[in-house]
Amino acid sequence: MGLRTVKQYKEGLRDGRQVWILGEKVSDVTTHPMLKVGVETAALDYEMAEDPRYHELAVAQHPETGEPISRHYYLPKNAEDLLKRHELIVTATRLGDGVIPFTKDVAGDCLNAIWVTSQVMGKEEYIERIREYYEHVRKRDLSIACGMTDVKGDRSLHPSSPEQSHPDFYVRVVDKNDEGIIVRGAKMHITASAYSDEILVLPCRAMREGDRDYAVCFAVPANAKGLKHICHPLRYQQSPLEFPVDVPIRMHTESLLVFDDVFIPWERVFLCGEWQYAGTIAYNFSFFHRHTASCYRIALTELQLGMAQAIAEYNGIDRISHVREKITNMIIYLEMLKSLAKASCSDPVIYGGIAVPNPVISNISKYHFAENYHNFVKWVQDLCGGILVTAPTYLDYQNPELRGYIDKYLGGKKGIPTEHRLRMLQLIRIWMASDIGGGIEVLALHGEGSLQAQRMIIYGEYQNQLQEYKERAKRVAGIK
Ligand SMILES: Cc1cc2nc3c(=O)[nH]c(=O)nc-3n(C[C@H](O)[C@H](O)[C@H](O)COP(=O)(O)OP(=O)(O)OC[C@H]3O[C@@H](n4cnc5c(N)ncnc54)[C@H](O)[C@@H]3O)c2cc1C
Repeated sequence: MGLRTVKQYKEGLRDGRQVWILGEKVSDVTTHPMLKVGVETAALDYEMAEDPRYHELAVAQHPETGEPISRHYYLPKNAEDLLKRHELIVTATRLGDGVIPFTKDVAGDCLNAIWVTSQVMGKEEYIERIREYYEHVRKRDLSIACGMTDVKGDRSLHPSSPEQSHPDFYVRVVDKNDEGIIVRGAKMHITASAYSDEILVLPCRAMREGDRDYAVCFAVPANAKGLKHICHPLRYQQSPLEFPVDVPIRMHTESLLVFDDVFIPWERVFLCGEWQYAGTIAYNFSFFHRHTASCYRIALTELQLGMAQAIAEYNGIDRISHVREKITNMIIYLEMLKSLAKASCSDPVIYGGIAVPNPVISNISKYHFAENYHNFVKWVQDLCGGILVTAPTYLDYQNPELRGYIDKYLGGKKGIPTEHRLRMLQLIRIWMASDIGGGIEVLALHGEGSLQAQRMIIYGEYQNQLQEYKERAKRVAGIK
């Protein structure tokens, strides 16, 4: 096969998977009013491959057979390959109006991390299994969610600590036989698992010897027996209070993914007990995934900067010095993000025979956008004024008795229709002053790992440079 159509992707999701939302079981995620928004968002990756305008970007040649495969499933060998992938994710997120399609993007991050780890570990059976799994994914053009974050229980304790109130806060192996392993536990916040074909399950942290049963990595079909997706609700339609907009809503859901004694055949197991390598997978995943995050944040930030400039003009304040300063701050934020994201590709490290985004820079890039995002939102909110949250609704605007007042009193700069100002404020409210806006702030902080996780890696990966610079300083100080 090699490449699937959107239709084939959707058909593949009708497989009896156990998905719940709002307390109810979902019979078909592709037609469910909420979840189909997620399906359409993820389908963008398939749409791009079908669209002649994006085909060349979305599709690569299989390195051995030359067959067309998704570029997400092309193992990067150098900076050029990483930059092409970078361009693909930024372009896809621009097409998604600020929302990344996600399921192939994150799949590449997981696959590459497992690939690197199997090479570093050097165990032939794992190297062969991930090679075969890679081919399985490429041939079927699968969408895959990443099940990494465990529910964790007491965060200060290790997975196997007897002080945890039960032993299942991290996904673990509870049984093994000739055919495979049985796993139990739960992963949390798993984006798009409800409408992915499979889930790659990775350990979320470094482990120690006692955590052996928790050092497990595997692939599992989304409809596996005993696997349950409990989704949280997502914005799926416009409210009658909003000005109607002729642009599709893009959004994802995240699931609590429960593994109620799920069987995994050996050929889909990529780590089982080798606790020393749990951290290797988690870290390598973070190098790829934090770069992926930076890419989608570029497209999202461009859109938000556009909103800020528009509302500044509509309010007649775009030439005022403090407003220009704020817009300049936002430009600096965006261009720093773009530079860091590209630099992490241009200066890769070669781990396990493939090009990995520079570990320090990819983490700084994610840290930069997360640490400063709330300020970015503050600047935009400041330019809007309080009307951002107090504007009359579209229902008021439609009432002929009220419309005249609204048009007259809520106009901004001469020549800009009041409706344009209200529409732009509505867009900003959704993205930066609503429950969705709050969710995006939390996503910046915690999605792809919390701030502390980035700082830990930046410091850890910088040890060689620190020593080198210290030696230089000693030489200049005359210390032998
Ligand atoms: C919208 C969204 C989408 C996501 N999508 C995915 C996904 O697709 N797949 C996936 O696997 N995950 C996903 N995540 C999960 C994300 O990676 C985690 O939220 C993140 O790693 C933080 O983990 P946590 O939420 O359990 O927070 P916690 O670990 O509870 O963190 C809370 C605070 O405790 C601190 N803390 C926790 N443990 C320790 C410790 N041992 N020592 C010191 N400080 C500690 C943290 O630094 C932080 O300050 C998503 C998250 C969000 C918000």
